[in-house]
Amino acid sequence: MKDHPNSWDARAKAHSLFGFTDLPSIEARGTVVLTHGEGPYVVDTDGKRYLDANSGLWNMVAGFDHAGLREAAKAQYDRFPGYHAFFGRMSDQTVALSEKLVEVSPFETGRVFYTNSGSEANETMVKILWMLHAAEGQPHRRKILTRVNGYHGVSVVAASMTGKPYNSVFGLPLEGFIHLTCPHYWREGRAGESEADFTARLAAELEAVIAREGADTIAGFFAEPVMGAGGVIPPPAGYFQAIAPVLRKHGIPLVADEVICGFGRTGEIWGSQTYGFMPDAIIASKAMTAGYFPMGAVILGPDLSDRVEAAVAPMEEFPHGFTASGHPVGCAVALKAIDVILNEGLMAQVRAGAGRMEAGLAEVARHANIGELRGIGYMWALEAVRDRATKTPFEGHLSVSERIANTCTDLGLICRPLGQSVVLCPPFILTDAQMDEMIEKLDRALNMVFAELA
Ligand SMILES: *Cc1c(COP(=O)(O)O)cnc(C)c1O
Repeated sequence: MKDHPNSWDARAKAHSLFGFTDLPSIEARGTVVLTHGEGPYVVDTDGKRYLDANSGLWNMVAGFDHAGLREAAKAQYDRFPGYHAFFGRMSDQTVALSEKLVEVSPFETGRVFYTNSGSEANETMVKILWMLHAAEGQPHRRKILTRVNGYHGVSVVAASMTGKPYNSVFGLPLEGFIHLTCPHYWREGRAGESEADFTARLAAELEAVIAREGADTIAGFFAEPVMGAGGVIPPPAGYFQAIAPVLRKHGIPLVADEVICGFGRTGEIWGSQTYGFMPDAIIASKAMTAGYFPMGAVILGPDLSDRVEAAVAPMEEFPHGFTASGHPVGCAVALKAIDVILNEGLMAQVRAGAGRMEAGLAEVARHANIGELRGIGYMWALEAVRDRATKTPFEGHLSVSERIANTCTDLGLICRPLGQSVVLCPPFILTDAQMDEMIEKLDRALNMVFAELA
């Protein structure tokens, strides 16, 4: 089938450009073209089923055929299939979703702005901060602090925030985007340095960078509570407790990029709750609609809400917004998704299943070529190493994590290679049997690949 010029594979390769895809590898292995999903499984054009242990891209937390979500979208398409949120007009669903987001946020009160993606939400937040500081008489507060390996999206500003070397092909980051040390104790901790000392070093680095750059040049600090696309990196103990006071002292807003952590992935609604800190604003997307509609949101806490309101009042208008901001179908879907996650037990399933997932993966991680198992809730990574004692990685040309992920795909399990790690972030609806299937297939794939590379 795959070799036929009219095969889905040939057609996919002919006229589509895949994102974040190594082209020689799809030439060698072929593409996977999907037709539909069933629970946590997706099905390709040959009828092969895959357990998608990455929830699509972290977002399809309710699986691929949730009846309630499909109904919510259909009903809203019948009622009012599209509108914007400009000129003082917005749909009733948009109003209702903003109320709901503020209600489930950690904030007493707040304001919500809608985008179509997480990248746009981060970029919107940067524009809001630039506008706000200028309106408050601090036009030089424009630099943005993030961390190496932090992922904040792909638009020009969001890519500049992202701490990944691949953005150099675009000549990014832009000037004024500063990346601090990745808060990964296992990799970045120095010989003999305790986790507490590591945390203290990162807080001291933040102080030093603020002193070097000048506090009055820094617009904001953005952080994922747990780094996702950087390889599932939970913060070292006490991290946010150490950096939040430094930021506060210098008047630098702390923005939690909760695009992955938000809506239950870590076992609480927000990763900032799991890690016990209060951000000034939250960036949401991905699971907010359970992946059933493209949508992102900026949720401003009370202080920033008041300040933005005061900054915008004397202006002719807040000159920002997307055509589909606050799309009524997206808002109806998000309202349903939040209800499903919080009230129909999806987040409870994460809390109940996280121990089983960790225990299962800990068994797998006993393999001598696994250097670290890390994660929380339903987001985990296993990092492969040539030598566990010295943490020596496999040689880059061996593409160890790609081999593991490819072998998993052959076995009917989708998981993602990231650096030398493989990432598992399954839909919240996983049954115990499906979780066992995920772990068993991963274990089999690891044994096959490590035997090849021995
Ligand atoms: C995915 C992601 C984004 C970008 O979202 P898009 O919808 O892909 O633009 C931003 N921040 C984090 C933490 C993400 O995981």
